[in-house]
Amino acid sequence: MSMTRKEFFKTTGKALAAAGALRAGLIPVPIFSCAPTPEKGVRLSYKKIRLFLKHTWTIARGSSDFKDNVFVRLEKDGVYGLGEAAPNIRYQETWESTVELIEKARSLLEEGDPWKFGELGHRILAIAEGQTAAKAALDIALMDWVTKKLRVPLYRYLGLDKSKTPLTSFTIGIDTPEVMKAKVKEAEEFPLLKIKVGLKNDEEILGAIRSVTDKPLRVDANEGWKSKEEALEKIRWLEGMGVEFIEQPLPSSMLEETKWLRERVKLPIIADEAVKSARDIPRLATAYDGINIKLMKAGGVQEALRMIAMAKSLGMKIMLGCMIESSVAISAAAHLSPLVDYADLDGNLLISNDPFEGVRTEKGRLILPDRPGLGIKGDL
Ligand code: MG
Repeated sequence: MSMTRKEFFKTTGKALAAAGALRAGLIPVPIFSCAPTPEKGVRLSYKKIRLFLKHTWTIARGSSDFKDNVFVRLEKDGVYGLGEAAPNIRYQETWESTVELIEKARSLLEEGDPWKFGELGHRILAIAEGQTAAKAALDIALMDWVTKKLRVPLYRYLGLDKSKTPLTSFTIGIDTPEVMKAKVKEAEEFPLLKIKVGLKNDEEILGAIRSVTDKPLRVDANEGWKSKEEALEKIRWLEGMGVEFIEQPLPSSMLEETKWLRERVKLPIIADEAVKSARDIPRLATAYDGINIKLMKAGGVQEALRMIAMAKSLGMKIMLGCMIESSVAISAAAHLSPLVDYADLDGNLLISNDPFEGVRTEKGRLILPDRPGLGIKGDL
């Protein structure tokens, strides 16, 4: 095929210009590699898993045999982070409302940069009021991803000493005195027990427990006593029963009554239902001796760290608690536990079908895994 002189110079000129540009690095050279193309944000997926309780779970608010938790998976650059939401009806949360919030956050995650987890965490918390369990799942997964990518366990990333983890208490849910005695025997390994009260037969329950063990007890009324006089009478009685502290004796709205109560009793009073995030803490300092931080109420690891800092600055005691959760969320909280006074991280021990492995306990002491991130074994 022949070409005119004009066509020849046009083609050759283009080829020479292209060669020059290539040498100058102006034209991208295709690179063939097995590495996946980095995505902008993370790939988000989630799954509802029904967790079955070993024993019917009864507290002052009601009973259940299972909990539907929502598990989140964030993946990017070949690494995945896991998170878990344990929605609680006390805070207007169900698994459906949890999924709704996760969907609301989808674009933030898929378009955002997980390395900017501080900013991303704030943006997730700001999406809507409430639904903190869903937010916790996303934040936990984000922190798992970041620390897995950095190849350090979360506690190490936070500069904490894993030998300083506290003992966790083991919770005995409300039941007939006979069953509660049997549960105390099952919990033989644990040196600290938490007892749920707040129903009509508190004295009978405590009496039954004390007939089989002299271990220190932590008592949680879950807002079950309805007047300050009733709470005063119960706490004065508990003071002679080897009790370490009392959690949420009155409804969270009764701040003035709790202040009145605190002036009249020796046992420390710990806020649980009354405290969700760092902003709640300063006004509680006059009525409570300490706070129970839960990742599910806080909306994740990052807010829990802010709560710990706030409570410490106010001289309050800090407890790290949980809902009914698998090893994913329990391990996330356990990584923060060297920072706190009391741990109540037994949610994974109360279920019969934990799909994951993470933190362990040895005679009640929390043993943190040394694997990167939360150190979870398992995937969705
Ligand atoms: Mg509680």
